[in-house]
Amino acid sequence: MSETLIEAVNLKKYFSTNAGVVHAVDDVSFKINAGETLGVVGESGCGKSTLGRALIRLYDPTEGKILYRGEDIAAMGKEKFRKVQKQMQMIFQDPYSSINPHFSVGETVLDPLRVSKTITDKNKRMAKVTETMELCGLPERYFNTYPHELDGGRRQRVGLARALVLDPEFIVCDEPISALDVSIQSQVVNMLEDMQEQMGLTYLFIAHDLSVVRHISNRIGVMYLGSLVELGESYELNRHPIHPYTQTLLSAVPVPDPKLSRTRKRIILEGDVPSPMNPPSGCRFHTRCPYATEKCSQVTPVFREHEPGHWAACHLLDK
Ligand code: SF4
Repeated sequence: MSETLIEAVNLKKYFSTNAGVVHAVDDVSFKINAGETLGVVGESGCGKSTLGRALIRLYDPTEGKILYRGEDIAAMGKEKFRKVQKQMQMIFQDPYSSINPHFSVGETVLDPLRVSKTITDKNKRMAKVTETMELCGLPERYFNTYPHELDGGRRQRVGLARALVLDPEFIVCDEPISALDVSIQSQVVNMLEDMQEQMGLTYLFIAHDLSVVRHISNRIGVMYLGSLVELGESYELNRHPIHPYTQTLLSAVPVPDPKLSRTRKRIILEGDVPSPMNPPSGCRFHTRCPYATEKCSQVTPVFREHEPGHWAACHLLDK
C-alpha cells in the first residue's frame, strides 16, 4: 500500500464577512496517497476550491490539522513552512489570475525560482526554466511571448510549467480544464497524466463535473455545502454510489451506452443550495434529499467507512 502524502484532519475554514460567518469547509478529513490523484467534485460554492487552497495553506485553516508526510503544516511557523511550501503548488482554472501580465512566458516560469532562491546560479536557473517549458510543450521560442498572446491550452501549459519548475510533489489542480475548449481539454489532461507518471506527482483534482474527474482520478471525494459526503475508488463510486447526493450528480452524467442511458433515471433536485452562512441542521443535504426523514434534520450523520475504502455520511446507510 502507498504511503500517505497529505492528510486533512477535521479541517475547517470559515470566513468572516459583514453578513456573517461563511462555513466554507466544515470538519473535513481524508488522506491522499503518494502518487495518486484524488478528484473532488461538487456544485459551485460547495467549498472544494477553498479546501484545495487550505490544504496548501494559501488560506490558513480555521481549525484542524494538515499532516504533510506526518508533520502538521497548519501549525508550522512561517519560516519552516516556506521550505515545505515548495513541494506544494497549484494550477488554476484561469492561469491568468496567478501570473503577472507584464511578464513574458519565460519570466513567468522563472519567477518562482527567483522568489524561492532555489537555484542561485543564473545559467542553471535559465536551463531549468527552458527544460521545464520544453517538458510542458512550450519550446524555447515562447520565452519572450506574453501569455495574453497564447491560446487557452498553451496558457494552461504556462501555469503548469510555473508549478513544476520548483519540482513539487503535490499539486492542487483547481478546475484546470473547465475554461478550455473540449478539443484542448484532453490534451491538458493527458499532459497532467504524463507529468504524474514521469515525476511521481500527487494531485488533488477539483472539478464541478463528475464526468471530468472520473477518468483522471484514482479516488473521488464528493462535497456538499462544506462537507465531504462520499469518498471512494473512482470505479466503485461511479458504479455504486451510496450517498443520495452522489447518486443525483451521477444521474446527470451522460452514459455512452444507449441501452443504459434509456434505463437511467435523471434525478432532479428540488430547491437551491442553502447558504453556507447558515447551513441546515443535521444532515446538510436534508432540505433537498428525496429520502430525508425527521432524524436527518436533527442529527448529523457520521462520515464512516461502509465498505473497505468506501466512505459516506448518511443515516440510511447506518441501518
Ligand atoms: Fe438524505 Fe438523510 Fe441521508 Fe442526509 S442523512 S443524505 S437527508 S437520507
